[in-house]
Amino acid sequence: MEKAVQQTDYDALSCRLSAIQKGYLPSPYFQGQQCHYDGYKELHLQYLNTLKTVSRRIYGKVNRVLQSSFPVMNFGTYLRTVSIDLELNRLLADYEGSPVQVLDLGGGSDLRMVPLLSSFPQLRFVDVDYRESTEVKSKVLWRNERLKKALNLEIDEEDSGMIRSSRYKLIACDLNNISETKQKLGEVTESNVPTIVITECVLCYMGQDESQALINYITHHFSPGHWISYDPIGGSQANDRFGTIMQANLRDSRSLEMPTLMVYNSKEAYAKRFMPLEARVEDMWHVFEDIPPEEMKRLKSLQFLDEVEELKVMQTHYVLCKVDWKKPCIT
Ligand code: SAM
Repeated sequence: MEKAVQQTDYDALSCRLSAIQKGYLPSPYFQGQQCHYDGYKELHLQYLNTLKTVSRRIYGKVNRVLQSSFPVMNFGTYLRTVSIDLELNRLLADYEGSPVQVLDLGGGSDLRMVPLLSSFPQLRFVDVDYRESTEVKSKVLWRNERLKKALNLEIDEEDSGMIRSSRYKLIACDLNNISETKQKLGEVTESNVPTIVITECVLCYMGQDESQALINYITHHFSPGHWISYDPIGGSQANDRFGTIMQANLRDSRSLEMPTLMVYNSKEAYAKRFMPLEARVEDMWHVFEDIPPEEMKRLKSLQFLDEVEELKVMQTHYVLCKVDWKKPCIT
């Protein structure tokens, strides 16, 4: 199961590369003032090229998915990437000039940290994932001169599966194991520095008790804090079969479970996992409908989007959740 979960990162990476290949990302509309996307396309291509030298098997997998570049998939990737980036960049701009840390939990092959670290000098960025994932990522980052320089990697730890440069840490940790998580995060973070947590398609793969323990720990330990989370929801209407079909497909095709898909199956249920904090949860169809007309025109010119109903069904079953807390949360 752990391996199957870890491999979902290759899908996320393929989807991002596909959206880049077709021109959805980076968004010129949001670039600059609202989002920092400098060198976005090139750094992803550099990552892919170096991945080929680190693992032909993973490179092959990523490349295969990349060949089937459907508009519905690219729109979905665009929506999740841009909506997280807008919130993240907004929060970082608010803290501009003061120390701030981002914890990208289950960050996989995410490369957000590269443009962000160069745009926000006071930012420290911590990436956490399973060891198998961090070993591949650290090798790629070490072997690619441009990425290595951008992240200021100095101490040679290529084979250790971790990176501990001055502002960027890559940590191998099983987030389902709360004692390990406390210990490892404790070594590289400060509890009283403003902290932004990202979980992009990660909580859905964790156990219910384990994800709750993670939320409780982070919201008690770090303050002030902000959490940006993106996940699928199973659907709560009696005739809604999205979640059950998704679970069955994942189980049959990959032996993969999403243990809480039907527990946090609506926006309201998803928000409850952060109680007593107030969580603002919106579905991604709402985000789609909020795209400014000029940007929508650009997106629709990239590929012919015939399957609007399919896009709507999918995107009403994915949510973006934002939570803020000023003091450690006491439950
Ligand atoms: N957040 C990245 C993104 O959106 O591009 C990767 C998303 S991928 C679908 C899910 C990631 O969460 C994988 O990299 C997986 O290894 C990681 N993950 C899930 N459960 C985890 C756990 N218990 N401990 C560490 N990483 C975990």
